[in-house]
Amino acid sequence: MMKNSLVLAVSGMILITALAMNACTAEKTNQVSVNYMPPKNPAYQYIYTLLKEEHTLDKLQKLLSPFRLPWTLEISLAECDGEADAMYGNGTITICYEYIDELWKNMPAKTTAGIEPIDTVVGPFLDTVLHEFAHALFDYLDIPILGREEDAADQVSAYIYLQLGKTEARRLIMGTVYTYMLEVKDTDPPSMAEFADEHSTSEQRRINLLCIAYGADPELFEDVAAWGGLPEERADICEEEFEHIAHAYHTLIGPHIDPDLAKKVFDRTWLPEKTSRVLSRQKLN
Ligand SMILES: [Zn+2]
Repeated sequence: MMKNSLVLAVSGMILITALAMNACTAEKTNQVSVNYMPPKNPAYQYIYTLLKEEHTLDKLQKLLSPFRLPWTLEISLAECDGEADAMYGNGTITICYEYIDELWKNMPAKTTAGIEPIDTVVGPFLDTVLHEFAHALFDYLDIPILGREEDAADQVSAYIYLQLGKTEARRLIMGTVYTYMLEVKDTDPPSMAEFADEHSTSEQRRINLLCIAYGADPELFEDVAAWGGLPEERADICEEEFEHIAHAYHTLIGPHIDPDLAKKVFDRTWLPEKTSRVLSRQKLN
């Protein structure tokens, strides 16, 4: 009798512990929170005001709501001691005011090569947020990674882009490619330090992005690929490259996405109108 009671008590404890652990780590949707941390530097006040008025972080929160995560993930605007950067760590994606300021200052005054000025800010901004979000997914969901994590994060970001509407995906990809082209102009040819970096060079990241887009939909992105300089030799294998990424994404990340919510969210229009208030604001600077 004593022995049976002991077995029951131990079994009960194991069950309670297992249930408690499950309760702590149960994945659920709507796990992204946002934090508009006001800047101390008055030079960045315009970004704070603009992003608040445009509900930018709230839109990101909505866009990422279908991902089932075991814990909350914060997306925060913050000053980064002069570094134009974005990073993920300890449950937070930090987007530096300095980074947005740099994008804003590099925005062309008028439509250039068919790209709307605002897309040269929104494209790389969203690409960067999704890249950091990919790092968070790898970490939160313990996703196995073959190859370099930075390249894998770029692939996840591009793949999520391509889930959006056709017009949106084209605008975002062209805006992002434009910014990579600017970076190349600044630094061409890449230094040994850039080749040795954990990230691929801007040139490689641009071509990789074009290849994924072209591989996903050669018809939709044929002109974008030509404009962005995707070489024919690489273009030939882009459909295969895209299939690899799609397979990995659906196998490893797909089970952590609420399909009904994802359909609703990804079918929405996310980008500002080409002639939105955002555009008129460039006159303020
Ligand atoms: Zn990264």
